[in-house]
Amino acid sequence: MTVSQILQTPPQQQPVTARGWVRTFRSNRFIALNDGSTGSNLQCVVNFEQTPEEVLKRITTGASVEVRGLLVASQGSGQVVEIQVDEIIIHGDSSPEEFPLQPKRHSLEFLREIAHLRPRTATFSAVFRIRHEAQFAVHQFFHERGFYHWATPIITSSDAEGAGEMFRVTSLPADNPPRTESGEVDFSEDFFGQSTNLTVSGQLEGELGAMALGKIYTFGPTFRAENSNTTRHLSEFWMIEPEMAFYTLEDNMQLAEDFAKHIIRHVLDRCPDDLALLDQRLQQEEQAKPAAQRQPMGLVEKLNFVVNNPFVRCSYTEAIEILKASKPNQKGQFAYPIEAWGADLQSEHERYLVEKHFQAPVILFDYPASIKAFYMRLNEDGTTVRAMDVLFPGIGEIIGGSQREERHDVLVEKMQAVGIDPHHLDWYLDTRKFGTCVHSGFGLGFERMIQFVTGMGNIRDVIPFPRFPGSAKF
Ligand code: ATP
Ligand code: MG
Repeated sequence: MTVSQILQTPPQQQPVTARGWVRTFRSNRFIALNDGSTGSNLQCVVNFEQTPEEVLKRITTGASVEVRGLLVASQGSGQVVEIQVDEIIIHGDSSPEEFPLQPKRHSLEFLREIAHLRPRTATFSAVFRIRHEAQFAVHQFFHERGFYHWATPIITSSDAEGAGEMFRVTSLPADNPPRTESGEVDFSEDFFGQSTNLTVSGQLEGELGAMALGKIYTFGPTFRAENSNTTRHLSEFWMIEPEMAFYTLEDNMQLAEDFAKHIIRHVLDRCPDDLALLDQRLQQEEQAKPAAQRQPMGLVEKLNFVVNNPFVRCSYTEAIEILKASKPNQKGQFAYPIEAWGADLQSEHERYLVEKHFQAPVILFDYPASIKAFYMRLNEDGTTVRAMDVLFPGIGEIIGGSQREERHDVLVEKMQAVGIDPHHLDWYLDTRKFGTCVHSGFGLGFERMIQFVTGMGNIRDVIPFPRFPGSAKF
């Protein structure tokens, strides 16, 4: 049985066996045993008079042990059941002098440097259990609504979307690649006979799926070689990208709202203990801050608020008016002051709208065409596109999407305007030639959602082995 199962078993002095890692060993008597199945530890009471000294010495923080004994109602407070140990087997020692995780509070920065061990802490194991539940919720949400999971390529030859800087994939020798007559690297000699990269988004291929299966979603890793050293950017992150035939922007926004709420509701239902632990952690962090900077809500309270309230819908144009008139803009407190319609919104603006003005998640829509990608549906005004971004408190943009431009000629024109050769994307344009239709989709950054549901401040702390500029260890 796992520790989680044992903790839920009524104690009847029955024999049980538990395996896991020692979190602490107090008074030569009480082992706090954890096996990752739950944030709670199982108390195992060692009979030290009957246990040889050599064995007692090997029960140290981090050691893996197997404990056999009787499950009884606990005498002490803090737990319902405990094991009265008859036999203890040490599977793997852990030197107390060398093991970096001590039974005390370590900083998240320190733990990031030992990412191979940090899942053994209470905080990180909670985060990663929640991550698993959220992942399950993603598949469940789409499956129940008739979407098909659609695998889009990780290695791609299309670089036209311009969503971000790309990592090259090549099997050419780095020190002496073949060259063309004009001296450029000759990628026709490369593995795929052309230059290839890691994908920045599966959207274009996702649209092809929607044009056949109706409603699809992708869920895969995405790579961006941009030098964004922020708490919200990774170089390798997971993205969920649904694409739906016959969906308008309004349908798309509703789906995005339902989807985000479904994930959060699922985590609230399935992970109350892990959330309580993270909530407590966050509250301790908040207490250390000056009162004016503290978050107004605890973690669980915030999640319930988002699940139980509608997301605000606000057009870009309306948002610019609000921002222009806002106090921080008037007082020159924005790093990028909002002067005129057409400005790209920075995260300081997004956060003002969400955290100060509306105090709720916000869906901004109908952005200027000039600041959005070529494939977004041009509105009748000729200047805005049917784009939408979902903005969350503390996070900023969590979802970006749009109704797609379904008109062949308009799409070709828009490609040419931004310097994309339509011939390179003839396969994409074919969807507009053969049975085109109104369709929409969006991308949710999975780690940003996990940041939101766990309250973790840094995106590097919600994926087991984060990739960011200067770091690909582990
Ligand atoms: P940002 O402006 O924050 O860089 P973006 O406009 O580049 O985001 P999109 O290309 O629209 O983002 O990608 C869709 C979603 O993927 C975003 O809403 C966000 O949740 C997530 N995302 C984008 N870039 C990253 C990144 N580098 N690391 C983690 N998540 C990301
Ligand atoms: Mg970006």
